[in-house]
Amino acid sequence: MNEEVLHELALLREFGFTHLDLSGPAASRPVVESSSLPEELSSTTSPWDSSTTGRLEDSTTTPWDALSAEAHNCTACRLAGTRTNVVFGVGNPNADLMFIGEAPGRDEDLKGEPFVGRAGQLLTDIIKAMKLTRDDVYIANVVKCRPPENRNPEADELDACRPFLQRQVALIQPKVIVTLGKFGLQSLTEKAYGISAVRGQWLDYKGIKLMPTYHPAYLLRTPSAKKDVWADMKKVMAELGIAS
Ligand code: URA
Repeated sequence: MNEEVLHELALLREFGFTHLDLSGPAASRPVVESSSLPEELSSTTSPWDSSTTGRLEDSTTTPWDALSAEAHNCTACRLAGTRTNVVFGVGNPNADLMFIGEAPGRDEDLKGEPFVGRAGQLLTDIIKAMKLTRDDVYIANVVKCRPPENRNPEADELDACRPFLQRQVALIQPKVIVTLGKFGLQSLTEKAYGISAVRGQWLDYKGIKLMPTYHPAYLLRTPSAKKDVWADMKKVMAELGIAS
């Protein structure tokens, strides 16, 4: 087994995986749409032991399917009682670049897809300006269900949802993570970083380069900060070898 494979296995183990389904080629992994899978899967088997973080029990189910099903069935916090849809994540499961936001708003809750409202349109524009599309990257939030009235997520909600995000990161293994705003950064890293203090500086998340930047919703309120985000995205493009 080569060093890269051993490194990937070590990373997966660190995130709590104890079994892997190796029955199909990695390239056949599906693009995980936020609205796909859950109902069909939830009504058949329960491949995950939800009391653990990442135990694959059914070797016919891919880790992505199982993780998505577990998220869509999750009742670990009070947000399960008010959500319309679980907003799991969307994009390329083999992406080099992953964006991590805060929590779904009204539009995202209705559609079951992250960043589809006004802030989402701005994120889509940022991605296009980086010469990429939403299908090239993976987009997720630290909290998968909408907090009522778009209030901030509470600490226990962030804690309950964090394992889903950690497992998404472990499966994707992006080269670069961009966190959007304070909650994305603080919840992923479990550190009390001030967003203004660290924005634009490379951080490390379990060996993955992490670029903290402002949330698109903040940019809608403060357009003068767009130039800062663009400066941050140029660093990300350089890291990924995309000419700006
Ligand atoms: N804001 C977020 O942080 N995430 C979304 O999905 C939408 C708005």
